[in-house]
Amino acid sequence: MVFTGRRLVVKLADGLPEARYEAVLALLRACLCGVGFVTLLLISESLLAPALVNAAIAVASLLLAVRLATVTSIESARRYGRWSTGVDVALFAAYSVAFASRPGAGALYGAFVLVIGPVRYGLRGIPATAVPVALVAALWPQLDASGTTAPVGEILFLCAVFALAPVAVRAVLMRGSARLRLAEQQFSTAFEHASIGMALTDRELRVLQANRSLGVLLGETPADLLHARLDAAVDRLDRPRLEAALRGLTPEAPSTRLEVRLRRPDGGLRWGHVSASLLAGACGVAAKIVVQVENITERKRSEAMLSHAAAHDALTDLPNRTLLLARLEAALNHGDQIGVLFIDLDRFKVVNDGLGHAVGDLLLVQLANRLREAMRPDDLVARLGGDEFVVLCRNADLDIVMSVADRVLEALNHPVTTTGGSEVVIGASIGISLAGPGDVAELVLREADTAMYAAKGAGGGRVHVFSPDLLDAVVRTHELEVDLRLAVRAGEVRVVYQPVYDLLLGRITGCEALARWTHPTRGPVPPQDFCAVAEQSDLILELGDWVLRQALNDARDWPAQPDGPVPSVAVNVSLRQLVSGGFAERVSQFVEEAGIDASRLCLEVTETVLAGDVQPVVEVLEALRDLGVRLAIDDFGTGHASLTYLARFPVDQVKIDQSFVAGLGIDAGSAAIVGGVVAMAHTFDMRVVAEGVETEGQLEALRALGCDAVQGYLLSVPRAPEEIEFLLRRGVTHQIPRPREDWAPDPRVHEASSDEPRRYRLLVEGAKQVTGLRELDAVFEQTFKALRSAVSFTGGAIMLVEDDQVRIAAALPAPTVEAMAARIPLGHGVSGTIALTGEPRYLPDITIASTVTSNRRTTNTSTGVRSWFGVPLIAEGRPIGVLQVDSTEVDAFGEADRLAVLSFAPVVALAVVSARQTEARLRGLPQGS
Ligand code: C2E
Ligand code: CA
Ligand code: CA
Repeated sequence: MVFTGRRLVVKLADGLPEARYEAVLALLRACLCGVGFVTLLLISESLLAPALVNAAIAVASLLLAVRLATVTSIESARRYGRWSTGVDVALFAAYSVAFASRPGAGALYGAFVLVIGPVRYGLRGIPATAVPVALVAALWPQLDASGTTAPVGEILFLCAVFALAPVAVRAVLMRGSARLRLAEQQFSTAFEHASIGMALTDRELRVLQANRSLGVLLGETPADLLHARLDAAVDRLDRPRLEAALRGLTPEAPSTRLEVRLRRPDGGLRWGHVSASLLAGACGVAAKIVVQVENITERKRSEAMLSHAAAHDALTDLPNRTLLLARLEAALNHGDQIGVLFIDLDRFKVVNDGLGHAVGDLLLVQLANRLREAMRPDDLVARLGGDEFVVLCRNADLDIVMSVADRVLEALNHPVTTTGGSEVVIGASIGISLAGPGDVAELVLREADTAMYAAKGAGGGRVHVFSPDLLDAVVRTHELEVDLRLAVRAGEVRVVYQPVYDLLLGRITGCEALARWTHPTRGPVPPQDFCAVAEQSDLILELGDWVLRQALNDARDWPAQPDGPVPSVAVNVSLRQLVSGGFAERVSQFVEEAGIDASRLCLEVTETVLAGDVQPVVEVLEALRDLGVRLAIDDFGTGHASLTYLARFPVDQVKIDQSFVAGLGIDAGSAAIVGGVVAMAHTFDMRVVAEGVETEGQLEALRALGCDAVQGYLLSVPRAPEEIEFLLRRGVTHQIPRPREDWAPDPRVHEASSDEPRRYRLLVEGAKQVTGLRELDAVFEQTFKALRSAVSFTGGAIMLVEDDQVRIAAALPAPTVEAMAARIPLGHGVSGTIALTGEPRYLPDITIASTVTSNRRTTNTSTGVRSWFGVPLIAEGRPIGVLQVDSTEVDAFGEADRLAVLSFAPVVALAVVSARQTEARLRGLPQGS
């Protein structure tokens, strides 16, 4: 019962104001009638009947109140009001009439009915209840307990007073409640149309009311939300936080704010800023919570973007230095063993300056992706800016970090393709430091940086692990740089010259300028070391310019050699010098200042400089060539480039790296490579110089392989300028040994540059057949047949050397008898077109014979031939003949044709020799004649 009573009160409190009003009136009536019932029973037993009527009214009124507690519409609440007004008046009239004659039966109920009209309807209520009640009271006046009645005037006066008082009170109250009503209306409108989501919930977060914005935000209609739990719309992860915050609301701390993720039924995510306020319950009114939910999804998104941007590199989207340091610090605090790899790209700056920053950016993105792919998922790859990257390896020992470093090097050594389609090898230097708990992130990074610097200083493309000594080394390197700068300015750097000997002339045809520096305290510093130091800054430009000027001045007065040219001077140029703006202009200026012929200057650049179509490099090389300066590829064979590729640059000379020269006579591969390089270089019209020649054996081998010139300690060490000048003035001819008769060349390796493997397959097939032949005529016939399958030609000839005379051994079409009988002394030319000398090194020059003038062509015995070329047949290190192909078309033979004939020539030479030997054996003649 108590429970029901409380429920009723709560219901009433939550119900419509109009219904509540009527219910309160009904309860009032019930109370009054209840009091009436008790009073009448106490006064006299004869008043039992009116007492029971009072009781009945009280009960009916109580039931009415209960009913009203569930009324939800204003209209029915009002209807109940009108009905009860009528019923009250009728009941009161009936009561008065029925019990007018019973003293003391008068009713409190009368007073209630009298005021109820004015209370409900104000002045308009007076005729509704006050007037009828006054009339009834006047007509059937009630006897009081003593049996007397009040005079009519008094009754009417009292009625008037009782009726007017509520009218007045109501007028005053109504004014306040109208304001309240307006405020309520305004609030309700604001609630409904608020742009932020709003809900009224009970303490269990059940939604009692929700507005449209909340529905839009949560992806539901307000009706769906009604009675549902508000936290159901909140992401599971945030629910406990929200519940704790709302449960913690008290009258002392009535509001809270927090940001939560909201999950929509479609799975979409929104961010909401929730402000919740507790509406404390009043007596009998449950506490509620007003919840406002603001959509902050956009803000969150841009915050996330901002914080991502603050911690990541915009170009590669890799973490930046800030994030890297934070992660490193966190890992160190966590007690992890960390390996830090500091990666610096070796050749990026040149590509970036050369191909433009847009291409550079694309390359960086490609390389960043490679780094990411080379890592374990736990590792962090960050970009510090420029071409510097850092990798953090968690829980890693030195072995693991080294293997990561190897993977990184491998990934970065793989050529990258630029937008222009050319391939560039970038390469990298890596410094490693290992750190553990207690280390400071900044310092660890600096150590890795120091190790990287050391790796770079040692030539790049390698990995160095940090050790405290490295710090000293870095300091020393820095000091060296400072000292070198001063030395260059004070003219303390000297230039020495190492002669280059032409193998044919046996004379010096040039000298290479090499820088020397003796440090005041440390003594002589190897040029690789100080050049590397200079390369790390712009000092190399100053040093390079200085050496260039010095070399040109020293070379100016060098005398011409007997039967030879005025020696040229070769100067080493680094990539940085080449791409520094205005290099060609400076060279031109220095040449002019020195008053020397530009063609006497040869600039040596390493193969790596040319790797990749770096446009500015090409432009500078072309500008230099236009000046008349010659160019050499230095250290050839140590890089990645093939000669076919390098032939695209305006290069005059190839310098075969010392490592191959050192291998001659030790490993067969070196001879094959040198032989192949020589053949290819000659095809491209380049001279070949071999460096680092230290033994007679090497010299002989180089000579036999067709090398043009040599340089090395065997012939001369680098010498001071005055010594060189003395040497040149004396005009010494170096005794360069001739090839021994019994020296057999190593098998030649020809670089396969043709993109037609088919040709080569055919040639190999043909070669098998030709070498198997034991008869000269069959060799000649099969040679033409085999060549024809790979090269398209209309005619050809095989000329052989016999007793220092050249004769046509076979020709297509069949030669005239006179032509067959002709003998031309070696070195005097065949058919008026081919200069055949006794020197193997000049033989490939025959290919240039296709540029003969037309009037010479008319004297040619082969009619209709418009282009041709021949290659030497070399056996046992000596020329034994020439293989020539002809065509009736101009420029009929391309590079691939020349290479095909070039590669086939050794096969033919071999077959000719073995056929002759077989013939001699059959005839019982001495072999080899
Ligand atoms: P490089 O251009 O390859 O120079 C040839 C090096 O081989 C020189 O070493 C030379 O002394 C050495 N050499 C000559 N003959 C022999 C030999 O028979 N056996 C051996 N084992 N070595 C021989 P050097 O003078 O120590 O120069 C080393 C490198 O330093 C040069 O290599 C060049 O790359 C660089 N360099 C020297 N001077 C300059 C310069 O003025 N500018 C630039 N950019 N680099 C220079
Ligand atoms: Ca050189
Ligand atoms: Ca070299």
